[in-house]
Amino acid sequence: MKEIKPPKKPVIYYYIVILIVVMLLNTFLFPAIVRHSIKEVDYGTFLTMVDQGKVKQVQIEDDYITFKPKTGDTVYKTGTMNDPDLVNRLHKANVKFAKVVPRENSPLITFFWTWVAPLLIFILIGQWLTKRMQSRIMGGGGNGFPFGKSNAKVYVESETGITFNDVAGQDEAKEALQEIVDFLHNSKKYVDIGANIPKGALLVGPPGTGKTMLAKAVAGESKVPFFSISGSEFVEMFVGMGAARVRDLFKQAKAKAPCIVFIDEIDAIGKSRNSSMAGGNDEREQTLNQLLTEMDGFEPDKGIVILAATNRPETLDKALLRPGRFDRRVPVELPDLAGREAILRVHARKVKLADNIDFNVIARATAGASGADLANIVNEAALRAVRLGRNRVTQNDLEESVEVVIAGYQRKNAVISMKDKLTIAYHEIGHALVAAKQSHSAPVHKITIIPRTSGALGYTMQVDEKETILMTKEQALDKITTYMGGRAAEEIIFKTITSGASNDIEQATKIARSMVTRFGMSDEFDMMALETVNNPYLGGDTTLLVSAETASKVDAEVLKIIKTCHQNAKTILLNNIDKLHELTKYLLEKETITGEEFMAILSGKQLETV
Ligand code: ADP
Repeated sequence: MKEIKPPKKPVIYYYIVILIVVMLLNTFLFPAIVRHSIKEVDYGTFLTMVDQGKVKQVQIEDDYITFKPKTGDTVYKTGTMNDPDLVNRLHKANVKFAKVVPRENSPLITFFWTWVAPLLIFILIGQWLTKRMQSRIMGGGGNGFPFGKSNAKVYVESETGITFNDVAGQDEAKEALQEIVDFLHNSKKYVDIGANIPKGALLVGPPGTGKTMLAKAVAGESKVPFFSISGSEFVEMFVGMGAARVRDLFKQAKAKAPCIVFIDEIDAIGKSRNSSMAGGNDEREQTLNQLLTEMDGFEPDKGIVILAATNRPETLDKALLRPGRFDRRVPVELPDLAGREAILRVHARKVKLADNIDFNVIARATAGASGADLANIVNEAALRAVRLGRNRVTQNDLEESVEVVIAGYQRKNAVISMKDKLTIAYHEIGHALVAAKQSHSAPVHKITIIPRTSGALGYTMQVDEKETILMTKEQALDKITTYMGGRAAEEIIFKTITSGASNDIEQATKIARSMVTRFGMSDEFDMMALETVNNPYLGGDTTLLVSAETASKVDAEVLKIIKTCHQNAKTILLNNIDKLHELTKYLLEKETITGEEFMAILSGKQLETV
């Protein structure tokens, strides 16, 4: 079959050629058409010329008359009069009635107006619209075809204003990045010895741990410009634009070298190319290829360092990670106890604090919180202080804002019946009592039955004395037993059960399942890996690796753990039934009790009830 080749020139080119041909034909082949000079005369002159026999032919229209004299080419025109005698006069003068000026246009002109002109107009409008759209997407002036002028934010001032001092904790990450700062300061030292300077580093960690901040701090410490763009900004509507943006970004960066280029969420373009089915996403692939080309393209001593951040390192294309590209991997993990305390202190520098603030307590209550969460807690505390008309942030503000971030705001006006309140109080004391009577549980810090906007009707907060990284089997079992405590109390006291334990059930099952499938804490499966974690930084969803038969055995094992813990919780409560009643009564009166109050009652001290 013959291949149809696309036209090389735009359609408008052919239309212009046709137009010129039509014009030329008009001028040279049909020259007689419509090129008369017409002279206007008054009606009297016309009659005189007729009477004198000077008129050769005449054409009478409704509102004008055109006529030709016997001599000369000039055509005359005059207005009509209600003149019944005119026809006789013309007869007498032997004037012919004939067309003087042809009325219809040339066929070519007609063709032009009916076919060529409308199409031309459409094409022009179409081209104008496309241009406008392109310039809008580009955000640029739209001169010519400026495909992919990137929107990379350019910080040309020499400092981002952020230094390593602003980033609390993360000492290992800072140490790893310090070398890059040094290289930007004295690259000659490295070049002289013949070392290959790293072109890029990949900051890997959960969201909100300060990856962007660290990248800015590297630029701030090195006093070089900072270019930042998010991976998702490369993925555009039109194929090829992402690649154009990458080119443009590097062009700008080369002009400003030495500098830092920061690509946030690099997984948006850097996803493994073979992971998607059915050919994948062409646009993303092209963008990635362009990025790889650019990274290989510039000389290492140029002084451009590319930092990229991701929380899904396992999805990245291997080509991105090979030496000479993002060969350094800097883990930016969730902060530990000391890290959390340091982050709280860094952010508290910006707010006015009351004396005697104990950041350690707050840090201990926020295990698992990211830097961004902690910054948010300090800000919430400051907002609360203003709301309550104070000009300093107190310990109480901070503690309350931890709860706001964990469980939402208090729902003070929620209507809860006395019966429900009683059930909630027994449920919460059930948790607390079981926790306190076990040897591997974290101490109770606070118990409350004030409902929260997150939907929690009450909760028991436990805070570890020290940060633990490893969880023993006993601790895991005690945790599950504590979760069972709420439901167990309801069963013992009310002889019925409610829906209030749904979250406890979910959390307990999660731990029990992990014990069996990932921690090797069951006798049945010993140390066999049954599940893998797909994404350690985002939610930690898992995939079961076993046959259906084994899966049902896993379920049976999980159920066995939960049932045992449930029974243990019941036993603990039955053995301490008096304390259960006493503590619940106290909680109902106070609505919120502290860990100290709880321990005092538990150890038999008499407390003043309000
Ligand atoms: P990421 O890029 O890892 O998602 P960011 O760097 O954007 O996180 O951090 C978000 C916010 O959290 C920062 O603006 C800062 O206020 C706070 N933050 C996170 N980690 C730290 C830290 N180590 N020290 C101080 N503040 C931090």
